[in-house]
Amino acid sequence: MIDMKWMGDKVPNFGPRVRYGKKYTPSVIVCHISAGTIGSMDNWFRNPAAEASSHFGVGRDGSIHQYVRLENAAWTQGLTADAIPNARAPIVKQMGVNPNLYCVSIEHEGYVEGHMDENGQVVVENFGLDGNLTEIQFWKSCWLHKYIQSEVERIWGHHIQFGPQYDLGHFQIDPKRKSSCPGKNFPWARLYAELAIAETMDLAAYEERIEYRISGAADFTHAYAAAARVQDLENKLGDNTWGPAAESKLLQLAPIMPQINYQGVLTGKGIAFRIAELYQTLSANSPYSAEALRKLLIVYNHMITTGLL
Ligand SMILES: [Zn+2]
Repeated sequence: MIDMKWMGDKVPNFGPRVRYGKKYTPSVIVCHISAGTIGSMDNWFRNPAAEASSHFGVGRDGSIHQYVRLENAAWTQGLTADAIPNARAPIVKQMGVNPNLYCVSIEHEGYVEGHMDENGQVVVENFGLDGNLTEIQFWKSCWLHKYIQSEVERIWGHHIQFGPQYDLGHFQIDPKRKSSCPGKNFPWARLYAELAIAETMDLAAYEERIEYRISGAADFTHAYAAAARVQDLENKLGDNTWGPAAESKLLQLAPIMPQINYQGVLTGKGIAFRIAELYQTLSANSPYSAEALRKLLIVYNHMITTGLL
């Protein structure tokens, strides 16, 4: 079971999905980045002076908080009158009313934090303010999309089609003021690809898939780290300064190449090609994904022991 915590009892910031007597059906999902921790989100939405809320928040640890019932309009899109004509999303112009009336909003916890290093210098660390979700946060957000789709279908009989048309970022609604929400690294391509898979299943079947993915979330993170590092080295191969060092680093993977079924020439390029191929197989969710993951974890472990990661 995926857990979700109801946090809405003390949240006053919402209204009805009604304007001039017309009732609106939730039909668009909007992703946001919170620019604060999930704890600060909890407090902010309870504060009447904030005049802000969201239906859901997803923490970097994968926790899901719900603040506003789907039947109500959360105050998330922070709209001013000139935003609608400037909106990038066609649906927003087409609807022509405050998007809060027909949107369901998901905040994702993302923030930066500063601390002093040993030399007294301030070091600012980015915890996803740029839209880089943690692995578990990504999967929980995918589950939440499916949950919303299935609830809207149950309550209103309306099917929200997943994809770029009805699944927006805040920047598409308000490009002027919210250009960095949910952040330049928000994983849109991955999200849409995953939601295309979610579209083919009911909530129960999809939840089972998510449980499985979450249990392997650390493995996926490691496989991704290995593939990203190899790609980074490959990008440096042609560089006059860094090329030779990148080549010799990639060649450190030569001893494990037989274990990952590579029979080609042992060059940096050849090794990088095989690892990129494994990563593509893993991401494609094909029948060979599990095997590709197993092999990438061999690469990862070898990179850790040799200091490449
Ligand atoms: Zn936003």
